Amino acid sequence: MTMTRDTLIAAFPGVGEVRAQKLEKLGLTNAAALLTWYPRDYEDRRQVYTIREAPLEGRVCIAAIAAEHPRFSRIRKGLELVQVKVVDAAGALHLTFFNQSYVERAIRAGEEYIFYGTVEEQGRRRAMVNPIFERVGRQSFTGCIMPVYRLTAGISNHLMATLTRLALDCASSVPETLPASVRQAHHLAAAEFALRNIHFPEHEASLELARRRLTFEELFYLAVGLHFLKQRREETGAGCPLPLRPLEEFQALLPFALTGAQRRVMEEMSTDLAGQRPMNRLVQGDVGSGKTVVAAFAAWLAVQGGYQAALMAPTEVLAEQHFRSLSALLAPAGVRVELLTGALTPGEKKKARLALAQGEIDLAVGTHALISSSVSFRRLALIVADEQHRFGVAQRAALAEKSGTGGMPPPHVLVMSATPIPRTLALIVYGDLDVSVIDQLPPGRSPVETYVIREDKRQRMYNFIRKQAGEGRQVYIVCPAVEENTEWTEEAAAFNLKAVKSYTEALQRDVFPDLRLGLLHGKLRPREKEAVMAAFTRGEIQVLVSTTVVEVGVDVPNASLMVVENADRFGLSQLHQLRGRVGRGGHQSYCVLMTNTRNPDSLARLRTLASTTDGFKISEEDLKLRGPGDFFGSRQHGLPQMKIADLTGDMRLLGEAQEAARLLLEEDPTLERPENRPVLERVRQLFADTPDIFN
Ligand code: ADP
Ligand code: MG
Repeated sequence: MTMTRDTLIAAFPGVGEVRAQKLEKLGLTNAAALLTWYPRDYEDRRQVYTIREAPLEGRVCIAAIAAEHPRFSRIRKGLELVQVKVVDAAGALHLTFFNQSYVERAIRAGEEYIFYGTVEEQGRRRAMVNPIFERVGRQSFTGCIMPVYRLTAGISNHLMATLTRLALDCASSVPETLPASVRQAHHLAAAEFALRNIHFPEHEASLELARRRLTFEELFYLAVGLHFLKQRREETGAGCPLPLRPLEEFQALLPFALTGAQRRVMEEMSTDLAGQRPMNRLVQGDVGSGKTVVAAFAAWLAVQGGYQAALMAPTEVLAEQHFRSLSALLAPAGVRVELLTGALTPGEKKKARLALAQGEIDLAVGTHALISSSVSFRRLALIVADEQHRFGVAQRAALAEKSGTGGMPPPHVLVMSATPIPRTLALIVYGDLDVSVIDQLPPGRSPVETYVIREDKRQRMYNFIRKQAGEGRQVYIVCPAVEENTEWTEEAAAFNLKAVKSYTEALQRDVFPDLRLGLLHGKLRPREKEAVMAAFTRGEIQVLVSTTVVEVGVDVPNASLMVVENADRFGLSQLHQLRGRVGRGGHQSYCVLMTNTRNPDSLARLRTLASTTDGFKISEEDLKLRGPGDFFGSRQHGLPQMKIADLTGDMRLLGEAQEAARLLLEEDPTLERPENRPVLERVRQLFADTPDIFN
């Protein structure tokens, strides 16, 4: 068959309808897609051992001759064995294959094969179970560096490698899209070489060259695309300049002195806000660094300038809390603050919307519903998105459309995030934003003491809760409630919602009959949630048992102890967020991570958390361990997915790629020179799903 980039995988030998469908689920439909389905890892199968010399650690290749005809036996229904002894000049190896009856015919006595598997010692015999094998002289996947692919059920790595090898027949027809000048300046391998060697590298050095080229390419197109995106935003023309105000005037409203970092960020913001173009700024600051007041300042500026502002929080609980603290702060300055959440009755909702539309509300606080099409503003000048890790490019693009009402220019946008994300990832999600960092905590905070505690010390943990409550402090207990019917039901059954409820009841009845407990979970109605949270804030609830709805943003300074049940089920960044719920007042605070796990990796992870409070370090660790999915959901950031760029590292290459993009665009801003057209094409493709970049 002649292979082209468009050849459908369904037409590949060995791929029937069933497999084609499974591959399609991975997004693999044709040869071109296979070529960019880069290996996630490699196995070095180059070294071929003799039976005696083969190490017992890890999987190895052994060359040996079948000493007999394979023996087939059926142990019971569903369990078939093929056994065969193979030998070399100095030793014998006993092979067992489970449920692979074809092996009986595939291995022939007297022929030499390479066997790839783990050598075990059974008494004085050496043995291997289910090795991969190939005839010597007809090897394709032994004696080489073998790619390891991400797979799906029913598709083996062997099949994936076989298909990719076939697809590589068209590698020479893959166009070179990187301009020659860029390739030269950055010493990048040619496209064809890179493709061949990323899948089947001849040696480490060629793999490195391939990876460098492909990673660079990916980051380069991303950088070019983001540049267009930013430029486009700047071209959207006039924003809504907000008159400058002395910071001291705002400071006078506060019960505390702003930190230097807060002041700096506020200055950066006011400059943006006073400018002719809409602001697009990300304010990043670790949990507890005091982002809310920065948002309040922006809102205050907008209202002083005669406009409206909107603040969106990811949960109703958080929206409610922001509403309370922002009203307390800004009402004395004459700002009319209103809460718009699902907790309102339809009547109240209608009234609030009307007031917004007529300009009788200055600052609206709510959830995503705030930017739905049924809400209109009279003169909206600022939108703040708090802790919206998923508030990516696509959502921001939707906002720009929101504005126009009443002939208003596009609003200023302020995104606030506590998740200190590694720079590569930040570039992807927030690449089109300007960034301010609050890199200082308010004074008087002592770091939260963190402990990893096993089940056998549960009683002591309860005693500690009692002690904290006795001193007038408040306590969170967070359980990883999991919806029933999720994939890990069995394991998670311990803490489904029912369990959280009965756990709370048992705690109240048997452990803390004298304390006031409350329960907060995602299935409560908004009003109920609000009531529980308000009671906790007022100190009426001493111990709040909850699912992760308290994760982000909740601020109750009197809370001094955070207990996390089954802590190993959470991501590190999530635990860091949870821990950030305490240590917000002047009291020494504690975080207790309960776990049953015996898995050394999980324990090590939890100990990382106990050993550092640096959110940045923690998120990098998390990213390494769990991948970027946890940060942003699959593709919610609305920007292209990286196929190869290692989001944790590749910092140097990122810098190079950005620089190359900048240079290229400086020389040819619209990429209309013939040699740059392919770049434009690639960027278009890459950003095909991103609204609004080119039209
Ligand atoms: P986050 O950055 O996590 O959103 P918050 O805005 O909720 O942090 O602030 C955490 C706590 O610190 C709040 O109780 C807030 O009132 C307080 N706070 C903020 N800035 C200061 C400051 N400069 N000095 C003292 N306390 C502050
Ligand atoms: Mg916050």
